[in-house]
Amino acid sequence: MSSYDFIVIGAGIAGASAAYELQQHGSAVLLEREALPGHHTTGRSAAFLVDSYGSATVGRLTRGGRGFLEQPPDGFADHPLVAPNPVLWIGREDQRASLAAALASGREAEAELREVDPRGARELCPVLREDYLAGAVVEPNTLYIDVAGLLEAFLRGFRKRGGELATKAEVTRIEPRGDAWEVDAGGRTWHAPVVVNAAGAWSDVVGRLAGARSIGLQPLRRTAITFDPPTGSEIGTWPLVIDADEDFYLKPEGAQLLASPCDETPSEPCDASPDDYDVALAADRVQRATTLEIRHIRRSWAGLRSFVADRSPVIGMDPERPGFFWLAGQGGFGIMTSPAAARAAAGLIVTGSLPEDLQALGLMQADLSVDRLSRRD
Ligand SMILES: Cc1cc2nc3c(=O)[nH]c(=O)nc-3n(C[C@H](O)[C@H](O)[C@H](O)COP(=O)(O)OP(=O)(O)OC[C@H]3O[C@@H](n4cnc5c(N)ncnc54)[C@H](O)[C@@H]3O)c2cc1C
Repeated sequence: MSSYDFIVIGAGIAGASAAYELQQHGSAVLLEREALPGHHTTGRSAAFLVDSYGSATVGRLTRGGRGFLEQPPDGFADHPLVAPNPVLWIGREDQRASLAAALASGREAEAELREVDPRGARELCPVLREDYLAGAVVEPNTLYIDVAGLLEAFLRGFRKRGGELATKAEVTRIEPRGDAWEVDAGGRTWHAPVVVNAAGAWSDVVGRLAGARSIGLQPLRRTAITFDPPTGSEIGTWPLVIDADEDFYLKPEGAQLLASPCDETPSEPCDASPDDYDVALAADRVQRATTLEIRHIRRSWAGLRSFVADRSPVIGMDPERPGFFWLAGQGGFGIMTSPAAARAAAGLIVTGSLPEDLQALGLMQADLSVDRLSRRD
């Protein structure tokens, strides 16, 4: 039997970042079912940091982690993990109210936002159709995140601090033994007083193994496609273009363009794959709003964004299962919030309170807690 201070389940961005933080306060093992960390939702994201995105709690976590991404600690990464890349919210005539609402909620989240007319929008993204646009809003301070680089840096930092990563180690049993938990994974038994559940879409499944009640997590499938830009176009400077009602988005992805129909199809936890209808919808919505002609889809994929009822993450100890800690429900913001969410988790586990800088941003334990949710057996 292997004994640790912390067992972290799931080596997506949530588990990797939490393990990195916790290893400073004791010994941690990170257990991942797949052969490669990041195989599920983390490896399938659109890789953006948008201050105005999500609930007020999400906004506070995003702001609390931004500095880490912009200026990581010495030796954390050998290249920049983020690059500036603006967001352009666009609306048709019938979407003026949605655009105004996006502007108002973004300003409430203290994001910098500026209205631009259709001409200004087309200067940023020249393929937008003149007859489609009624107005637009630019959010200039958004960032593109190198997700693979960030995940790798968390894992490397964790190992450098002496942590152990076990892959092909699916957790199949979690039982209390005295003051600690006993966990079976990958043919071994692991032992620790604290188990962190960072199993992404499977967090309720893992919770059930520990005898915890459900947090009502709902995985929602989201699809993405990539395709070639028009020959000779300079897509490198294009913003992330998002429809005001979040019906689709479009952004440069290396030498290609990436689009999503912003689908949210309820799913069981699984290795998600795209549905033909959603792939076609992505292409159709982009072609209606732009002069782009999508003749060939290079690649399509889908990932599960998992939410609880209020769409804020769950970061807290299970009130009925001492030592069983939830780090779940990262929805569509798990990459950009990961540095702050991991520090919040480590603070709550080690000292019972949130780090002071996150409290100063207005982040409250109650807004992240399991207690705020109505739970089911
Ligand atoms: C199309 C799309 C676009 C997105 N765009 C953005 C964006 O622009 N910005 C942003 O911040 N976020 C974005 N997201 C959301 C972001 O990707 C997720 O919030 C984040 O990746 C969730 O990370 P995670 O670690 O919780 O989950 P995962 O990456 O799914 O990791 C969970 C891990 O737990 C493991 N696991 C499960 N059960 C067990 C078990 N029993 N034993 C051992 N291991 C187990 C799984 O194998 C998996 O590796 C997007 C998501 C999608 C799908």
